[in-house]
Amino acid sequence: MKIICIGRNYAEHAKEMNAPVPSEPVFFLKPDTAQIKNNLPFYYPDFSKEIHHEVELVLKINKPGKNIDIQFANKYYDEIGIGIDFTARDIQAKCKEKGLPWEKAKAFDGSAPIGKFIDKKKFVDLNAINFNLKINGKTVQIGNTKDLLFSFDAVIAYVSKFFTLKKGDLIYTGTPEGVGPVVIGDTLEASIENEPLLTFEIK
Ligand code: MG
Repeated sequence: MKIICIGRNYAEHAKEMNAPVPSEPVFFLKPDTAQIKNNLPFYYPDFSKEIHHEVELVLKINKPGKNIDIQFANKYYDEIGIGIDFTARDIQAKCKEKGLPWEKAKAFDGSAPIGKFIDKKKFVDLNAINFNLKINGKTVQIGNTKDLLFSFDAVIAYVSKFFTLKKGDLIYTGTPEGVGPVVIGDTLEASIENEPLLTFEIK
């Protein structure tokens, strides 16, 4: 399986990164070794001093597809989950400065914790899903899919022009504003509609 992450998909987050609001989706990949499941801890890597949290809604692809038309894109996922796109912000800044790829900053082991998934039929409106991240009980990020620059369907259509999507692939759909550092000892709790679906510790 592969993990596809959409960057800058919420305007307020692009703004806090001093990055332009994109005119087409920005995306990058993480390998399967980035995944952390079952609320297992995240081990702070020794190559970074600035690991940031980015809470994101995640689509689980349910069947293979290539060049998917936007009007059929909703048939390619049944479940929505929540995860963290951990980012070594110090390394990313260096990569950006030198015009180098982001993998070292984004795709390292454990950089993609993933929680439980919810049947998408349970949502009344996919364009109005609330989600949030708490650290040690304090809310640090709040998002709502009404603020997505590119909808779930638009993202699936766009990404599938370049990559064949396969069953089990995950698409991290971008983070709202409020990204920031984590430290050893923190407990992160990510929720959709106030239901905690991912809880883990930084070790
Ligand atoms: Mg992200």
